[in-house]
Amino acid sequence: MENQHDLELLALRTAQNILVFTGAGMSADSGIPTFRDALTGLWERFDAQQLATPEAFRRDPPLVWGWYEWRRGKALHAAPNAGHLAIAAWQHLVAQLTVVTQNVDDLHERAGSSRVIHLHGSLHQPRCFDCGHPFEQQGIPDEPEGGRRLPPPLCGHCGGPIRPGVVWFGEMLPPEALAAAEAAVRSCDVMIVVGTSGLVFPAARLPMIALQLKKPVIVVDPQPPTEALEKALWLKGRASELLPAMVGALKPR
Ligand SMILES: [Zn+2]
Repeated sequence: MENQHDLELLALRTAQNILVFTGAGMSADSGIPTFRDALTGLWERFDAQQLATPEAFRRDPPLVWGWYEWRRGKALHAAPNAGHLAIAAWQHLVAQLTVVTQNVDDLHERAGSSRVIHLHGSLHQPRCFDCGHPFEQQGIPDEPEGGRRLPPPLCGHCGGPIRPGVVWFGEMLPPEALAAAEAAVRSCDVMIVVGTSGLVFPAARLPMIALQLKKPVIVVDPQPPTEALEKALWLKGRASELLPAMVGALKPR
């Protein structure tokens, strides 16, 4: 095992095509509560699965829209952490660096990463629930700490309610994003998996594809990876601490 992991660290030094796959632990270091932790205040008595579905939105649009505006406000008030900034700096040290994220905030983009694939959509790209037309959203929502119900704006084209641009339970991942992410896995020299439990499919399949292709996979997480990723090299620690150290070690001196 030791030898195999030496190879992963060597791969990290020589890699020119890096894939960084991020999940909730990446944003948690910026103070953004994870999906399930976000259920406080008005949302406390709900289950995430009761709020994040097309059925929930159909049943009670102001409840669901209010929750997402509250979460969008939290995301926009948060700043990229040292881990986001390290990934953005890394892209200048290699030929190609792609970020594939399960997160719905825009912290990678605000840190300066130029190639970011959002597998689960974005809090910042709302669209019409009925006709799918994109909706231009302005400003930072100023939602009360405990949250509130808020009727969604209406579509300028068809008058339908505007929905968040995230992927809900029971919905497919955007096919273009999934295809681009799989292509990035196949072409990368090394895959870094940051702050994701690796439990939510089909996103969780991506590191497994990399392992099947015998690519070096490095997991950055305070928690040990799931059994499916036991062949990966686990670097135990937080994204905001380990990523800057990794990228710092790669800089030419
Ligand atoms: Zn519409």
